[in-house]
Amino acid sequence: MNQLDRTVLLSSTYIKTGMTPQGLYDKCMSLANNLWWSWHPEVINMFRSLDPIRWRHLGHNPIALLQEFTPERLENRINELVLHTRIDQSYRRMREYFHTRPDWAKKYIGVLGSKPVAYFSLEFGVHESVPIYSGGLGVLSGDHIKSASGLGVPLVAVGLFYDQGYFKQHLDESGWQQEEYLDTMVEYLPLKTPLGKDGKTITVCVETRSGKIFARVRQMNVGRVNLYLLDTDLDENSPEDRQLTSRLYGGNVRTRIRQELVSGVGGVRALKALGITPGVYHLNEGHNAFATLEVIREKMHEDGMSFHDAFRQVAQCTVFTTHTPVPAGHDRFDAGLMEEHLGPLRDSLGIAAEQLMELGRVEPYNPHEPFCMTVLGLKLSRYANAVSSLHGHVSRLMWANLWPHRTEEEIPIGHITNGVHVPSWMSWQMKTLFERYLGVNWSQESIDPESWQGVYRIDPGELWETHNALKTMLISFARRRLSRQCRRRGEPDEVIEQTRNLLDPQILTIGFARRFATYKRATIILRDIDRLDKICNNPERPVQFIFAGKAHPADNPGKEFIRAIANLRHDPRFSNRILFIEDYDINVCRHMVQGVDVWLNNPRRPLEASGTSGMKAVLNGGLNLSILDGWWAEAYDGTNGFAIGRGTQHIDESITDERDCQYLYEVLENEVVPLYYEVDEHGLPNAWIKRMMNSFSTLGWRFSAHRMVADYVINTYLPAAGGVSCKMPAH
Ligand SMILES: *Cc1c(COP(=O)(O)O)cnc(C)c1O
Repeated sequence: MNQLDRTVLLSSTYIKTGMTPQGLYDKCMSLANNLWWSWHPEVINMFRSLDPIRWRHLGHNPIALLQEFTPERLENRINELVLHTRIDQSYRRMREYFHTRPDWAKKYIGVLGSKPVAYFSLEFGVHESVPIYSGGLGVLSGDHIKSASGLGVPLVAVGLFYDQGYFKQHLDESGWQQEEYLDTMVEYLPLKTPLGKDGKTITVCVETRSGKIFARVRQMNVGRVNLYLLDTDLDENSPEDRQLTSRLYGGNVRTRIRQELVSGVGGVRALKALGITPGVYHLNEGHNAFATLEVIREKMHEDGMSFHDAFRQVAQCTVFTTHTPVPAGHDRFDAGLMEEHLGPLRDSLGIAAEQLMELGRVEPYNPHEPFCMTVLGLKLSRYANAVSSLHGHVSRLMWANLWPHRTEEEIPIGHITNGVHVPSWMSWQMKTLFERYLGVNWSQESIDPESWQGVYRIDPGELWETHNALKTMLISFARRRLSRQCRRRGEPDEVIEQTRNLLDPQILTIGFARRFATYKRATIILRDIDRLDKICNNPERPVQFIFAGKAHPADNPGKEFIRAIANLRHDPRFSNRILFIEDYDINVCRHMVQGVDVWLNNPRRPLEASGTSGMKAVLNGGLNLSILDGWWAEAYDGTNGFAIGRGTQHIDESITDERDCQYLYEVLENEVVPLYYEVDEHGLPNAWIKRMMNSFSTLGWRFSAHRMVADYVINTYLPAAGGVSCKMPAH
């Protein structure tokens, strides 16, 4: 290039951006400051390319990354990579996103326009760099608000700000789970301090019989949705209460009721201080059900209503979602804890202690029954739902005693099956392939079944190639993580060296990752270890497994399961066939669901309310192999994945477990493995690829969070807000 050309090129870049280094830096920062970036691969790739190694080390946190640059260094780097246009385009797309109203919203949101939905959840899993979630419930909340943003549903979200979040997991030499809590680098989170109507920062106060708890309100922006997070780490609080919101699910039952008091009652007060008047309250799980009592109090004090009238009005605008049939998943508090924490609020409601307890009891007059948050949620909502069709049935039976004179069909608990946020979980490689065959107008966000039928037009060879590229990326990721795990444990160099060659991209790869609760039966496949050996080490048709997942810190049986799997690495039959990736989080999940051939799920039916990780695998060409429980009970049609067993259970758990274990081996040996290795002369497993296409076309739109949020709007939010009245989906 001659001098003249170079000058022209440089000045044209300058003219195009017309920006000072500081201006450019600010533009990048504003991209980093709204979590909108986290579901836009072109923005993620832009951040990553600034410094790929630091990007990884900083946990994919763009604010932390940008803070390592001065504006001048950033500009140099951007010039070097010729990123100006991409940054401008991303920035313009983001602005456009905020300034246009989606067509869906124009058509459907009606009365919600003036009174938004307030969505309460104890955790939000938006991205791995914002550690305020523990698992499935949090990721579901994150996906819910992203889709609400995408559809343009007026919604604000309320939760707690945890400065340590959930624990980091690593295993010691014996394979036993160790938990470590790290302080989050708060200055690297996209946090804002919202101001109240009076222009001041907002602190709310909740009185208890044993003193006041103060919480300040923080804010994060997730696309068009404002997420408000309450944080008790304030000078005004006792040292104990300062730590109240440090950890998710840490502490004892007293910590728990105080957290729920802050998020529920404090959350409603925060919205008030922000000048937000919700038209609908959506309680995602019973955790936040105290919010309803505070809204009743507001109505009594401001509108002069009686307790009973306020109660009815609040129930009318409350939507409640229950998430688990496992009894331990429903918080229960004794009368002493209730009086200590709800006493002052109860005084303002003008009701007796016993009357309050009755609101949380299945048998109102049973003095021995503790207060259950789910019962409060059910009594105080006109719209209650479970999270899959089967879970709806199970929940109606589970809570039937609340409506002793009704038959199952008359019990007012419907269902809206969960879904996942497609732009967050579909790899950009797969998205690009779809766009290439179905046109750039093909939208991941479409909930029109028709738009997913185009998958059959994709060339099978290319679909297979894309899938295998993703699988290779998963295997590199697994090797990197295993090497890091071995280094941390101080293992010899030759062991670390071996991790470079772990796994084989040619082999059928099965993933299993979820919370290690014992009912999920992670170890069921180890029951007949010789049979598993034959499956894994069949010379023509081998199989390999990748496991991940955390056990609750107090769940020793769950930790035993982890140990049993992790220690297979010492068994020469499995050392290169079964491995365990530590510290399951959104990042590990993303790699796994995008790269596996098969996603395995074998819970004890019917305890899996929905499950969502299998839906994420669908979006990337993974096939589900699952017990007919949760979402899979309604999703499986015989052609779009594999079923373990026939959707039955025995009253004796051990018989159920033994049968399911046999079913699992049989379906692996007779269906999954043969289908995968049945290839044509070009090496393509055509029947398998057909099944991948069936999976995309029947499940992609149906188990998306956009479909889920649309269902919530039409069947619950609108009628709760006093708009058109619709029925819950038939059950
Ligand atoms: C999606 C997800 C889950 C939920 O998956 P299940 O199928 O319900 O187990 C849990 N944890 C993380 C990190 C996830 O991304």
